[in-house]
Amino acid sequence: MKPLSRKNFIKGVALGTISLPFVIRSCGADNFAQQSSSPNVITNKKYQWKMVTTWPPNFPVLGEGCNLFAEWVKEMSGGRLEIKVYGGGELVPPLQAFDAVRSGAADIGSGAAYYWAGKAPASQFFASVPFGMNAQQLNAWIISGGGIELWKELYGQYNLVPMLGGNTGVQMGGWFNKEINSIADLKGLKMRIPGLGGKVLEKAGGSPVLLAGGEIYTGLERGIIDATEWIGPYHDHKMGFYQIAKYYYSPGWHETGTALEFFMNKERYEKLPKDLQAILQTAAMRLNIWMLSEFEAKNTIYLAKLINEEKVDIRFYPEEVLTQLREFTEQSISDITSADPFSKKVYESYDKFRKQAGDWSKLTEKAFYNNIQI
Ligand code: CA
Repeated sequence: MKPLSRKNFIKGVALGTISLPFVIRSCGADNFAQQSSSPNVITNKKYQWKMVTTWPPNFPVLGEGCNLFAEWVKEMSGGRLEIKVYGGGELVPPLQAFDAVRSGAADIGSGAAYYWAGKAPASQFFASVPFGMNAQQLNAWIISGGGIELWKELYGQYNLVPMLGGNTGVQMGGWFNKEINSIADLKGLKMRIPGLGGKVLEKAGGSPVLLAGGEIYTGLERGIIDATEWIGPYHDHKMGFYQIAKYYYSPGWHETGTALEFFMNKERYEKLPKDLQAILQTAAMRLNIWMLSEFEAKNTIYLAKLINEEKVDIRFYPEEVLTQLREFTEQSISDITSADPFSKKVYESYDKFRKQAGDWSKLTEKAFYNNIQI
């Protein structure tokens, strides 16, 4: 579609002649776009899909979100597309979800793209980058800034179609039993911290340890790990970390707005009638805003509980520690992009958008936060 000139766009809006779908397509909101030659005929044919997830069954917000997504799809399709949700381990182990959907053993999966960094290194840029974009900026890059096209290109190589499926918002920096006053305090520290954040900790002399959600509490209690990050006040309160760790650190430099995802078997998705494809896209978009809102609302309530009821000692990483972690982040990203050309391509797009979004935020969000009483 030929882009409208500014003059004609303004004229069209003023005259009310530009319809909403036209505006959405013109703005490049590709998450909505139809992408196959699938039949545009509504029939009564029913589809039964299986969803595999990387979350424990009914896990707050993340697993609950998958259940809601399935309910919305069923409602919107009048029961023509039913999705049965399996928690991690119920059909396949959590981290086999990607392969299960690729092979067609399941139709759709829910996870975070950085879980697949071992297979597709570029995937992590669609989930979270230390010192990277926040939820608002990441949504903007993926939905409207070219991210979704790159993500589709990457997952297409694995017979998958990706979709945004939520965001945790900015996370907390983790639970420690000693103060972090300098970068030397991270040396030798065994910390549960996944993904690129773990690589950064390694460069600082620490040891990232991978533990499944259910093993973290006892791991910290028994000294298998010295520290852990998880998500934010709501989930961290449920995990009970305040009972066994002295300090709760801010900010979550390693996860500044982690995106969650759905990935669908490409052939199964393309065989669906167009209206069912649109329903999946719409439900995912609804979940994206629901999840961010749910995290934001619950985190504010549970932060107050942690402070007022559990008397948690909240600390901030010193500036000098954050500066050095940032340098280690740049080195870690360079390690990835120099070894994998597709990662380079994706990161160039990500980083260009991040810098421009940063310039805009300095004049807006940042200026605002600097001038209000928090
Ligand atoms: Ca985390």
